[in-house]
Amino acid sequence: MEQRRMDYHLHTLHSMDGRQSMEELCSDMVRRGVQEICLTEHIEPGHPRQELDIPPIWDVWFHELEAMRSRFPQLTIRAGVEIGDNPLLRETIKRGLDDQPYDFRLLSLHLVNGVDCYDIEQYFGGKTRAQAYREYAEAKAESILNWTEFDSVAHIGYAAKYSAYTGDDQPLRYEDAPDAFDAILRHIIHLDKCLEINTSGYTKMTDALPHTSIVKRYIELGGECFTFGSDSHDTDRNYMDVERAKEHVRSLGGKYQAAFCRRKKILYRI
Ligand SMILES: [Zn+2]
Ligand SMILES: [Zn+2]
Repeated sequence: MEQRRMDYHLHTLHSMDGRQSMEELCSDMVRRGVQEICLTEHIEPGHPRQELDIPPIWDVWFHELEAMRSRFPQLTIRAGVEIGDNPLLRETIKRGLDDQPYDFRLLSLHLVNGVDCYDIEQYFGGKTRAQAYREYAEAKAESILNWTEFDSVAHIGYAAKYSAYTGDDQPLRYEDAPDAFDAILRHIIHLDKCLEINTSGYTKMTDALPHTSIVKRYIELGGECFTFGSDSHDTDRNYMDVERAKEHVRSLGGKYQAAFCRRKKILYRI
């Protein structure tokens, strides 16, 4: 089984917070020797900041993606989406996804009880660390347990990325909510889906997302499949720390790195 240089979490100008064009992304990835990428633009239905609730115009996006495939034949380019789940709009979100021929669905959660964890004051204000982290873990479990049609689960532990806590108190660890994490990980394994290793954690903390303790538990429970993504929004961070994260997960006993074509999984050695 081969290894492959792939990045499965990427944003372009078609995401409301993206800062690179599709062409800049593709040529930068070719320069970095990456073999396969998956664009995962945001959808954020019902986000309290209205400017973030603007989905790409999918027809335009698919058209441009097709042009990139002809222009960069040496790079495999997949069409994905980062689903910003929202329990209040879940059924509408699911119906909307069925209308588009994505290769890959990345299930994500930024909102916890209507507040984006990114908004430190609003999210952490008036809560203890234990409360803030448990609330996130429970919301993440509620989200995942209500989905079956996804391929990988994005950045578990997102609340720790822009945390009000620093140093040793910053990472969200397995011990912070073992019941919620077990429910999440068992569901992923039961459905034969993947756990994402999101390397954007390295820029804010010493670990990727999820924390090593959660990755270890996933492997212990029988989890074998991972996707790796830089979650880059600009050319400075494309593919950043992906090889480092792969080496780390390999050292923990992780087995496969997955790619997706029309939602069909293709496995590579990590
Ligand atoms: Zn995200
Ligand atoms: Zn993202």
